[in-house]
Amino acid sequence: MDRIKIVVVGAGVIGLAVACELSKKHKDILVIEKNPSFGQETSSRNSEVIHAGIYYPKDSLKANTCLLGKKLLYEYCQKNNIGYRKTGKLIAITNDNEREPLERLLKNGLENGVEDLKIISKEEIKKIEPNIGAQAAISSPSTGIIDSHSLMKSLLSEFKSRDGQVAYNAEVVGIDKISAGFKVSVEDIDGLLNFSSLIVVNASGLNSDKASEMVGIRKDECRIKYCKGDYFRVHNNKAKLISRLIYPLPKTEALGVHATLDLGQGLRLGPDDEYVDKIYYDIDESKKESFYENIKALLPFIKLEDLGSDTSGIRPKLQGPGQDFRDFVIEDESHNGFDGFINLIGIESPGLTASLAIAKEVEKIVKISL
Ligand SMILES: Cc1cc2nc3c(=O)[nH]c(=O)nc-3n(C[C@H](O)[C@H](O)[C@H](O)COP(=O)(O)OP(=O)(O)OC[C@H]3O[C@@H](n4cnc5c(N)ncnc54)[C@H](O)[C@@H]3O)c2cc1C
Repeated sequence: MDRIKIVVVGAGVIGLAVACELSKKHKDILVIEKNPSFGQETSSRNSEVIHAGIYYPKDSLKANTCLLGKKLLYEYCQKNNIGYRKTGKLIAITNDNEREPLERLLKNGLENGVEDLKIISKEEIKKIEPNIGAQAAISSPSTGIIDSHSLMKSLLSEFKSRDGQVAYNAEVVGIDKISAGFKVSVEDIDGLLNFSSLIVVNASGLNSDKASEMVGIRKDECRIKYCKGDYFRVHNNKAKLISRLIYPLPKTEALGVHATLDLGQGLRLGPDDEYVDKIYYDIDESKKESFYENIKALLPFIKLEDLGSDTSGIRPKLQGPGQDFRDFVIEDESHNGFDGFINLIGIESPGLTASLAIAKEVEKIVKISL
């Protein structure tokens, strides 16, 4: 059986960030990806927002990795010529009854360490976003947008420049604990292949619960629930009517249908949130009316006929509908008797923002495991 030092399962933004970080200190790393290329699942089906870190409970992994990840991502983009724009964002309310929850959200963001947040008045909003219908808003100057494809491409090329290897069209179908590390079974066009690895990092996104179960750990409490988010594109001539991202006050754990800009100067609404029992990306056209109803008070310049279906993505959630907050699982599984197995499960939003910080967490675990 061939021996490898570190296997990373999955070439989404998390697997690539982890592989790139580990390659700074370690040799003999293999990323295994079941698709023909990198980033073909959740990492290319999201809003491409660099989140500030406002919403998550204080001291949660989501809050901490989002804040550090945001800083690292802006630095990485600048250093590596990756498209990004610090657009800023408004979390806006359309009636005064929402003022108290808006203030609570501001407090949460400030406690998380997002220091530049403040509430601005209707008059101040009119000066910077004259076309929106808001009574007040939290202004978040550090929120931005990023070209996530370029980010992944850059992480991959940095990893490869340090002799990192990637196997595409290769699906991990079995992981078994052996005396020194793990036996990893992979299926590719040539059939089944087995090799051993001292470290396995499970970065397999929507599949991460199943990959963990292959070794026999984290079953019920880490079952992934698929939460689909659809987007509708707004007609191009309306995109210039806002200059920052505009979000409503979240009513549930989801952020609510919001307006995001992309680097190509386009404007999209979404994502909504709908729990589904299988992975599919078709857009339900009949949702157009409800998207419109949801945003018409806040973005009165958008008409129903401006909306056309766009893409969708699926969040790998640990909480089901209406359930309490669940954090990212970034876990050294040695305490469960699986030395060298590192689980990354439930890496939903703000996973893109947090990617470089999650990679640093994994590096700390690898350091003590080897
Ligand atoms: C609608 C939506 C909007 C979002 N918006 C934002 C946002 O604006 N900002 C933000 O910060 N985050 C956002 N996110 C979250 C972000 O997109 C994810 O956290 C991030 O992309 C997760 O990356 P990943 O690498 O873990 O998963 P993925 O990109 O899904 O990668 C996992 C990879 O593992 C591979 N794989 C799975 N099983 C196997 C196997 N057995 N063998 C080999 N390969 C395997 C898959 O093919 C896939 O390529 C959003 C998510 C969604 C769904």
